[in-house]
Amino acid sequence: MTRPLPLLACLLVCCLVSGLAAAKPKDGNAAPAEPVDYRSDHFYLHTDLPPSDAQELLERLETMLELISTYWARPCLGIIECYVVVDLAHWPTGMIPEEGLAHIKAGAGVTSVTTLSSGGQSLSRSVVYSVADRGTPQHEAVHAYCGQTFGTTGPVWYSEGMAEMGQYWRKDDTSVQIHEGVLDYLRSSTPKSIDEIVHAEEFTGDSWQNYAWRWALCHLLAYNTNYASRFRPLGLAFLKKEPTSFEEAYGDMTREIEFEYHFFLSHLDQGFRNDLCSWDWQRKFRAPKGSAALTSKIKADHGWQPSGAIVAAGADYQCKATGSWQTAKDAQPRSADGVERELRNRDHQTGGETDNDPDEVNEGEKGDAIDDADGRLMGVVLSDDDENYRLSEPFELGGDVTFTAPADGKLYLRCRDSWGKLADNKGTLTVKIKAKRNASRARE
Ligand SMILES: [Zn+2]
Repeated sequence: MTRPLPLLACLLVCCLVSGLAAAKPKDGNAAPAEPVDYRSDHFYLHTDLPPSDAQELLERLETMLELISTYWARPCLGIIECYVVVDLAHWPTGMIPEEGLAHIKAGAGVTSVTTLSSGGQSLSRSVVYSVADRGTPQHEAVHAYCGQTFGTTGPVWYSEGMAEMGQYWRKDDTSVQIHEGVLDYLRSSTPKSIDEIVHAEEFTGDSWQNYAWRWALCHLLAYNTNYASRFRPLGLAFLKKEPTSFEEAYGDMTREIEFEYHFFLSHLDQGFRNDLCSWDWQRKFRAPKGSAALTSKIKADHGWQPSGAIVAAGADYQCKATGSWQTAKDAQPRSADGVERELRNRDHQTGGETDNDPDEVNEGEKGDAIDDADGRLMGVVLSDDDENYRLSEPFELGGDVTFTAPADGKLYLRCRDSWGKLADNKGTLTVKIKAKRNASRARE
């Protein structure tokens, strides 16, 4: 009997940072005249980077690899070979195979995954070809790990979204830290729908704009505390080629994900933390009755947090808040009234609030008015009496104020600070919300 021939399958997964290329590698020692080989536990690196930069890259890739192989719960099998190129003129002709050359010439990267199957066994091998910026080798290393370990990198939205997460990966930092051009693009564009990201007929290497939307969705699902625990098993099922889908994982949370996805995009900034700005969908709310107050603890370093109070449009409520908080590690402690109240009131009257363009409102709310880092207690009403969740305009609260609810819904509270700078805030306020006389028509 003749033995069946081994089957060869090739997969090319690309990276598109062309035109958005990150900074050149920092100057270390002088660049070598020709490529040099370096080895670490999991990488075999050919590069014309200066030796200190090459070592730094290897260490960074090893640390990231350790993290992602823990995340996907599989050790990296074998060695990943990488060609990382500063200047093609340093490389002898023919040293970089044709499959990688075109991508490097285009200022980007590509990972080739070759799978050899025989007798029910298969073995995959990944080779990375990349320009020597900071992000591209990291992006490609994610593809290379997935390819070599699982023989696949998953559906395009997941594969490229996770590789983009790898591109921006920094040790012990889950905040948004993306290319300024990508940030500008995401902030100025009409959001691509989740359905479009997940289901459109798209292919690897299509456009950096598509990569940006995939990154945004993966960043939300990976770090938002409502979705992270389902995201990992979903990704693992993709990589193990088990039958699954986005809908199977998140079908019962569609409205919440849609809302939080739009909220994320409309508040996107460097430093934004999806884990700190996750919405609490579990908290029970009720209408404050009689003289009884509903009490909540509101943290300075989180996004909108539940007050526990259901409010009615046009009805009046009393808000009392005690304690102090800080809008930066070394900032002066502030009360719920924030700071420089008189000064800011004066700014109010000179038209400080006209910064917001009403056309730019999505499902999320508009940017905060006037001073977005003054530590004032703020309120917003979340309504869900139609198909989508909606947010009212945010409004100012304080240590002892009466306010009129702008809509029917649930009252959420937060400390006013830039959305990208919440992580270094400190402190918690205790907030009590009580109905005034005309508030009796709030519906549970
Ligand atoms: Zn890629």
